[in-house]
Amino acid sequence: MGDSNVVACPSCKKKNRVPVATAGKPQCASCKAPLPWVVDATDQTMAGALDTQQLVLIDLWAPWCGPCRMVAPVLEQLATQYAGRITVVKVNVDDSPQSAPKTTPAAFPR
Ligand SMILES: [Zn+2]
Repeated sequence: MGDSNVVACPSCKKKNRVPVATAGKPQCASCKAPLPWVVDATDQTMAGALDTQQLVLIDLWAPWCGPCRMVAPVLEQLATQYAGRITVVKVNVDDSPQSAPKTTPAAFPR
């Protein structure tokens, strides 16, 4: 996945690259609409992903977890509906085992 994800702009459908961590909010390069901010974070990028003024919804998931896969489209819907207001940070806990116990406000002070 790398450090960015590609999302389609909800208003003009242009595909944009959305970084895991950025100052401010990701905007469509074409129409400037706020983009759904859904990123895949890892143990390495987690701190950066949480360093935002937006509300962060963390999805700790695993490939073998059926309910996790069922929830994923709902989270993407939420990210689209609340574009510019929330960030959905998805963490594959099999790949990033350190992130699960760390995702508390105390572990990531602002
Ligand atoms: Zn757009």
